[in-house]
Parts: sequence; C-alpha cells; structure tokens
Amino acid sequence: MAQGSQEMIDPFGRRITYLRVSVTDRCDFRCLYCMAEDMTFLPKQDLLTLEEIDRLASAFVAKGMRKLRLTGGEPLVRKNVMWLIRSLSRHLGAGLEELTLTTNGSQLWRHAEQLVDCGVKRINVSLDTLDPAKFRVITRWGDFAQVMRGIDAADRAGIKVKINAVALRDVNEDEIEGLVRWSHGRGFDLTLIETMPMGEIGTDRTDQYLPLSLVRARLNDRFTFEESSYRSGGPARYVHVRETGGRLGFITPLTHNFCESCNRVRVTCTGTLFMCLGQDDAADLRAPLRASEADELLHAAIDAAIARKPKGHDFVIERGEKPTVSRHMSATGG
Ligand code: SAM
Ligand code: SF4
Repeated sequence: MAQGSQEMIDPFGRRITYLRVSVTDRCDFRCLYCMAEDMTFLPKQDLLTLEEIDRLASAFVAKGMRKLRLTGGEPLVRKNVMWLIRSLSRHLGAGLEELTLTTNGSQLWRHAEQLVDCGVKRINVSLDTLDPAKFRVITRWGDFAQVMRGIDAADRAGIKVKINAVALRDVNEDEIEGLVRWSHGRGFDLTLIETMPMGEIGTDRTDQYLPLSLVRARLNDRFTFEESSYRSGGPARYVHVRETGGRLGFITPLTHNFCESCNRVRVTCTGTLFMCLGQDDAADLRAPLRASEADELLHAAIDAAIARKPKGHDFVIERGEKPTVSRHMSATGG
C-alpha cells in the first residue's frame, strides 16, 4: 500500500482504480445461472441507505478510484437509485473519470435520458439471447420486448451500449454467432462471459458451463479475428471482427485467469468490501462508516483491506461440487 498518497496499490503492485458497487441484491429477473428461483434476499434493514452508499463510494473516489460501476442485483430496481447516480456524478471530472452501470435493461426505458443527464456515457446490458421465448426461459421472469425498448432508449439517448452474454451450453450456444452479428450491426460491443461457480442455483453448473475457448474456436470458422489492444478497464480481452467491423470481448475466468491485471474491488449493499470476486475474504466497512461522521476510520479500513487483496481466484467447476464461492454474483455484482 502506498503510504501518504491518494493511490491504492495492492501487495502485488496493482493500482486499484475501479470500484463496483452492488446497490441491491434484489432483482426483477431470476436468471438460471445467477439465482435460484426461490432466492432469499437480505432484509431491507441490513442495507446501507443511499446516502451511506454515496458516502462510501465518495470515500473511494477520494482514495483514487477512477471508475465507478453500479451493479447488483438489478441496480435500477433500487428505489430512488437515480438520486444516488445524480449525487455520484458530482465527482465526474473531479477525480472520477467514469460513472457507469451494469443492468438487465428492464428499467432502462424510463431512466435512459436521466442517465445521460448524470454523465453516464456507457452502460453494460446483459442479454443472453435474441429469442423472446428463450429469454423468458433464461431470465425466468424477464420481458424481452421491455429490454429491447430499454436498449433502444439508451441508444437513442446517446449512451454507448455494450452487450454482455453468458455462454451457456445447450441454451444459447447456437445463438452466439447471431448475437455477434446483431450487436455489431447495432454498433454495440459484445462481451461473452463464462459462467462462474458462485452461489447455489438449484442445478449443477457443469451442465451450463461452456468454455469460451470452444466458442472462440467455433466463431473462428465464421469470422476473422484481429487482435486488439483495446481495454475497457475490466477483465475482458478483445478482438476486432473483420467481417462485422465490431469488437468482441471474452471474459474467461475458468479457461484463462484474468487476475494478473486486476484493478478492481467490490462493495456490497451492506457495506462489505470484497477484494476479489472469487474469494471469500471481505472487510466490513459499514461499522467504520457508521462509527463516525468523519472518514478517517473508513479510510483506514479501506487501506487495511487493500493491503490484503489476494493474488487471484481459483474458480473450478466440477460435477457434484459446491460452488467455489458460496455467495451469488448478485450479492457482489458482476
Ligand atoms: N442485473 C444486472 C445484469 O444482469 O446485468 C447486474 C448484475 S449481474 C449479477 C452482472 C453480470 O453478471 C451479468 O452480465 C450477468 O449475466 C453476470 N452473471 C451473473 N451470474 C453469473 C455467473 N454465475 N457467472 C457468470 N456471470 C454471471
Ligand atoms: Fe438479475 Fe442480473 Fe442475476 Fe439476471 S444476472 S438474475 S438480471 S442480477
């Protein structure tokens, strides 16, 4: 940890500049790979208030965070979340370089214009299929037309949309080429993600797991990939697709560990800081946040946590095994 500076450097020399904040663990969808259908959510009284999340995220910005991503659960279902986004936007240009979110898109139709107004320039929208019936199967509760309306609204408002799709064996593996063509045809980047062993979902993840090495080899028969040095600041590695002119990203936690350049930490809606998506070690920031109106204790707790950020995760997916990490992706955010 660099002492006496605003920068946060972890024990492996990685500069930590990217905070993801899960503003709620709740969601209006129940995606097959993310949640069990009968999920139990946190009692509302355990959640930080929006004012507390604002203070917590602002403390991180003061300590050198350059990028802030709101996620969840579904961030746009948290009541009054636009207040938080507007409030956090005050840091843009004053330390913070980017304020963004990852969303399932269901509420975008109502918020797209306001997001632009708050300085949000790019968003990630999760979309695993272009087939409305399959969309309903994957999300269990989602409405495809509503999500499309949201994506259109964001696009019209001038927000740069990136599509995220989890590659799922036997579910959408026959659609990946179509997703590439559709996303690039609309001018959107597409990032493919391997399903990660996080949280019980009521089924065995080995049945869903589709290695992206295989997907990439198949796509290579259809498209010409040109290596790209583009980085979005996250874990994806990109190629440029010659035939479509678009960018395609791969997030491969299982087939290729992306930890060596990790610049991220994550905080949950209860104020728990996870220094690694794939490890259980965490630091409670709610107690120091509530202990004092000054931020000294909070800053000290953040420093102590960054000083023990682990080198990386050890995700494995094996039949009959419990998930590597017991909490769901929706607790820490993607
Ligand atoms: N609800 C929002 C959404 O779906 O975009 C934000 C939260 S969601 C947890 C963030 C991202 O994590 C989504 O792109 C989702 O597809 C992905 N995700 C959820 N569970 C996952 C898992 N077990 N493995 C890989 N990706 C997962
Ligand atoms: Fe909700 Fe996102 Fe998880 Fe789907 S992936 S259940 S939309 S949190």
